[in-house]
Amino acid sequence: VSAAVQPARPAADRCPGVLRLHDAGDGRLARVRVPGGRLTAVQLDALAAGAALGNELAELTSRGSVQLRGLPADAAAPLARLLAAGGLLPSAAHDRVRNLLASPLAGRLPSSLLDTDPLADAFDAALCADAALAALPGRLLFALDDGAGLTAVAVSDVALVAEAGTDGGGRHGGGDGLGPVASAVPASIVLRLHLAGAPTTLTVAPDAAVALLLQAAHAFLALRARVDPTAWHVADLPDGAAALAGELGAAPTSGDLGVSTTLGSPLLPPGRRVQADGRVALTALAPLGRLEHRQLAGLARVLRGTGGDLRLSTDRTVTLVDLAARDAGAVAHELEALGLVVAPGSGWEGLTTCSGSGACRRALVDVRAAAAARARRRRPGAPAEHWSACPRRCGMSRDVAIAVVAGGARDASVNAGGAVASAETLAIARDGRPDAQAADVAHALELLDTDPTERPAA
Ligand code: SF4
Repeated sequence: VSAAVQPARPAADRCPGVLRLHDAGDGRLARVRVPGGRLTAVQLDALAAGAALGNELAELTSRGSVQLRGLPADAAAPLARLLAAGGLLPSAAHDRVRNLLASPLAGRLPSSLLDTDPLADAFDAALCADAALAALPGRLLFALDDGAGLTAVAVSDVALVAEAGTDGGGRHGGGDGLGPVASAVPASIVLRLHLAGAPTTLTVAPDAAVALLLQAAHAFLALRARVDPTAWHVADLPDGAAALAGELGAAPTSGDLGVSTTLGSPLLPPGRRVQADGRVALTALAPLGRLEHRQLAGLARVLRGTGGDLRLSTDRTVTLVDLAARDAGAVAHELEALGLVVAPGSGWEGLTTCSGSGACRRALVDVRAAAAARARRRRPGAPAEHWSACPRRCGMSRDVAIAVVAGGARDASVNAGGAVASAETLAIARDGRPDAQAADVAHALELLDTDPTERPAA
């Protein structure tokens, strides 16, 4: 969307959590952090119980969190009890700051260089044990990539990315419980520090990774206090990446390190992947990034059958790992029966809506029905697209390529012509610029079909 329709960053950090609910148009919203993206069956059951307090929908966010919507104003206390019992709220003080992305397949792909799961667990435990870090902004995002490039480093503030070392003599973990067993870690594997999505000159051995992330967190807080106490991200500070790198004894580098630092196509679309050990990782897409109560409970049942955990990605997918090849087909059928997409090339990829009709009283059109129609028409690889059922645009990401907003013509920043429009009118914006006005949903679908990259196959 255009700068004209972007909300300015408020001075206060009002980022929601479990204990601090956001007053959204469709009721209170809770954001549940899932550091490293891993959920057990018990945690899925806790989320299902939490969702039942609201509109029974859980949303997977583009930052790897889970949002519960449509909650009553007094939901914080009962929700906190449910999630704490499921291990999803280990520290009330750190509720909103446990923001960590990690490789969904964590060391399992042939291109993976190390297992990031133990590092993610160790970082989260250390973060929650550090009282000063409870002051981090609720949007500051950490990331750990195993070298396979499936972590959204581009959107992170502080990231460590595994790569082969060049000196062949790097230190490596041994006896500290971090990473795979020491004998399986080549001595030349290092993790490179990225700040605001860009690489720096600093690399560390895996056994120094958690300490560096914590050091970066403290350095960010100190820099923020000196320069701009309202900054949410490294990039919010003047020349933030370079300044923070300097505090850590590093410098930005423009070298091509083989890691994507720009937003692009999905990192982890649905489908099967063969792990380095021959077992299978199965990724499924939740249409509209949304899991209903019955789907959460159903996924918990599937996990109890497979014995593993569920891994969220920033593409709003869920992945089950370590499946025996002979079992993967049956598990895929179970996920399909739950309404998840398990094959690549679906029109649901990159398509999102607000809670919309049936879940929000403000909805002017049925965006979920509209999205179902769009999913049948969109080509694989189509640009990201979001439908809002009213001008509030709940859940719309800043970088969405196509935005369709019901009643949006009433918004002067969208309606460049200033024409008076009916409530059902939809405003279409592309790459942040007003593009067209549609009289109704059918007209909007027709207009979107005129885009040569979007037109359905004859
Ligand atoms: S954008 Fe959607 S969810 Fe938000 S208030 Fe409007 S109708 Fe409700």
